[in-house]
Amino acid sequence: MTRKELDAETHSVTLGEKTISLVVPAFNEEASIPLFIEAFMRARQGWEFNSEVIFVDDGSSDGSLALLRHYASQHECLNYISFSRNFGKEIALSAGIDHASGHAVVMMDVDLQHPLSTVPEFVKTWHEQGVDIVYGVRDEDNQETPLKRWTSRQFYRFFNKMAHTRLPEGGGDFRLLDRRVVDVLKSLPERNRFMKGLYAWVGFDTQALTYEQPPRVAGNTTFNYWKLWNFALDGIVSFSTWPLRVWSYLGVGVALIAFLYGAYIVLRTLVLGADVPGYASLTAGVMFLGGMQLISIGVIGEYLGRLFIETKDRPLYIVAESRVPDNES
Ligand code: UDP
Ligand code: MG
Repeated sequence: MTRKELDAETHSVTLGEKTISLVVPAFNEEASIPLFIEAFMRARQGWEFNSEVIFVDDGSSDGSLALLRHYASQHECLNYISFSRNFGKEIALSAGIDHASGHAVVMMDVDLQHPLSTVPEFVKTWHEQGVDIVYGVRDEDNQETPLKRWTSRQFYRFFNKMAHTRLPEGGGDFRLLDRRVVDVLKSLPERNRFMKGLYAWVGFDTQALTYEQPPRVAGNTTFNYWKLWNFALDGIVSFSTWPLRVWSYLGVGVALIAFLYGAYIVLRTLVLGADVPGYASLTAGVMFLGGMQLISIGVIGEYLGRLFIETKDRPLYIVAESRVPDNES
């Protein structure tokens, strides 16, 4: 379908006829789920458009699934998918968009850190300005610790220097995606789902909107620094080959220094004669080079490991149980 045909099809429809699917991942969120549902049921009464929720239970071990079953049996607009185990938030988001049938999808957290009151603003921007992606940017003085904010800023800086894809700083997962974008994302084959990178990679007209992020409504975050570090590493390795290439330049640099130093030793021996060579400088040199080689092998390992995972071609996630509306795709 061409863009014109699609535009004619989607934009001639009034807002009242459109359906927005909220994709909401949840991992051990029994405390937040009822609060989210209550807030959603209240908020949607004031919305001009139709809405549905696709919860993705990411292998919770608490009562989350039982709650979702209960609520889904009571309300037509509440749906869920439940994974056989914990697959991680990025994959939960992918599963959500696979099963969402709306004209647009809004991804949000269940802990109410992504305010429901911002959803109509996203929808309005999408509908009136005809953009394909609307993403939320957190207001500066949010609840994050200064260290988390600093590390996050460094990550965006580093990523944007390194990768072929530019990430807009501060743009998180809270965003609206038009059906066109959803279809493209669904067609991407990779197992390594660094969603922030993928949104940027697919392109399309994008618009930012700021929102104020309240603290978590209940429970605790599961993202600690180690998880965030691995997440950042995933992002960089999936979107940049710079870490692989840098070693060639380092190698050339070190070889050049070694050559100059060798020439200096030859000259010095010719002029001053031979003396006992420096044991310490030799050890330092060997250890330095050994370290560099181990790091570069480690970097190759990072990429090779990902290649290995991709070639196995396993499914992205396993659904143990679900209740979602039938959609043809
Ligand atoms: N989440 C998930 N799988 C995980 C970890 C988290 O689906 O393995 C969900 C979680 O239930 C929440 C969202 O991802 O809806 C964001 O998690 P959290 O609030 O812990 O992260 P933060 O807001 O601190 O970045
Ligand atoms: Mg949160």
